[in-house]
Amino acid sequence: EIKLAERVQALTPSSTLAITAKAKEMKARGIDVIGLGAGEPDFNTPEHILKAAYASMKEGQTKYTPSGGLIPLKEAIIQKFKDDQKIAYDTSEIMVATGAKHALYTLFQVLLDEGDEVIIPTPFWVSYPEQVKLADGVPVYIEGKEEKDFKITPEQLKSAITEKTKAVILNSPSNPTGMLYSKEELQALGEVCLEHNIIIVSDEIYEKLIYDHHEHVSIAQLSEELKQQTIIINGVSKSHSMTGWRIGYAAGNKSIIKAMTNLASHSTSNPTTTAQYAAIAAYTGTQQPVEKMRQAFEHRLNTIYDQLISIPGFSCVKPKGAFYLFPNAKQAAELTGYQHVDEFVKALLEEAKVAVIPGSGFGAPNNIRLSYATSLEVLEEAVKRIREFVEQKA
Ligand code: PLP
Repeated sequence: EIKLAERVQALTPSSTLAITAKAKEMKARGIDVIGLGAGEPDFNTPEHILKAAYASMKEGQTKYTPSGGLIPLKEAIIQKFKDDQKIAYDTSEIMVATGAKHALYTLFQVLLDEGDEVIIPTPFWVSYPEQVKLADGVPVYIEGKEEKDFKITPEQLKSAITEKTKAVILNSPSNPTGMLYSKEELQALGEVCLEHNIIIVSDEIYEKLIYDHHEHVSIAQLSEELKQQTIIINGVSKSHSMTGWRIGYAAGNKSIIKAMTNLASHSTSNPTTTAQYAAIAAYTGTQQPVEKMRQAFEHRLNTIYDQLISIPGFSCVKPKGAFYLFPNAKQAAELTGYQHVDEFVKALLEEAKVAVIPGSGFGAPNNIRLSYATSLEVLEEAVKRIREFVEQKA
């Protein structure tokens, strides 16, 4: 038997994958399962982006590019930051990676030494702790409480800081909760980070998916000091329905960006050339499809939210962004005879034939995650099945 490195032995398999694999297997057996696990928009990549990608290939742009990305793409990203956040970056402050996930991975690799602590608010996106651990760092959790809309407070942040704290991760809008920090809240958290010289990793991948007239604010736009203290992570996956193209990026401190670029030069060489041309088109072309997708998500959210919270034993903080609902299902689990929400989720799949993701993987064991990146028709059927399941068993 091959002994694998301890590094990977300690990896927690993705909670999303386990349930999705089981749902797929049931589907293959001909069972009519509805999957609400998706972490990606269900729309096609907009047509003008596809065309630009093809045109670039026809023109012979199929070779290596600079490791940190094509200059025209960096310039398009810089323009995006100017337009949306009023932040001025230089090309030396941008690194294009193979998806936002890879940008984050590379960031932790260049930032952390053994034992360095990274503060991760719960509920968190599943890859943060694993990426920190892969860089020999130590995740330190603070609880974003449901009664506070899953937001952390400056006091909580302060009390989690030790001599070893290197960074804190903020993800607004959040996967899995859809929570969105206000400018004032970010200002207060930022002050704590500045006072203790903590790097802010600001994952803004859901920036374009915001509802009910709320506004996305980046912590980096609040002051020059905060810009210097923050690495923004973003990408085109969720905004332009481009998950498979794998283009994300990091923006911030020059020496961090340079180190990340060096590391990428020995691992990926560069993000796929065609995908970089597609991303240029995504940012320089019309943004109408982005807004259209946002509106579709908002319509689904508003329709399905009321139906969901009327299921006995369900309560849910209404999301302000992203495309997930993160209801508390503890009471529903108990009503139906399950002690743990994990068991309730398993029964939902086996008996109601609806696949949702248990919150335990996100550090919130009383909740479940439902993605509304699927048609309204399917969503309504899924919620109906959940309701019938709960009502029958209660
Ligand atoms: N950050 C968060 C919070 C996400 O939910 C995701 C995707 O699920 C990513 C980053 C990664 O996105 P990308 O497709 O750009 O790697």
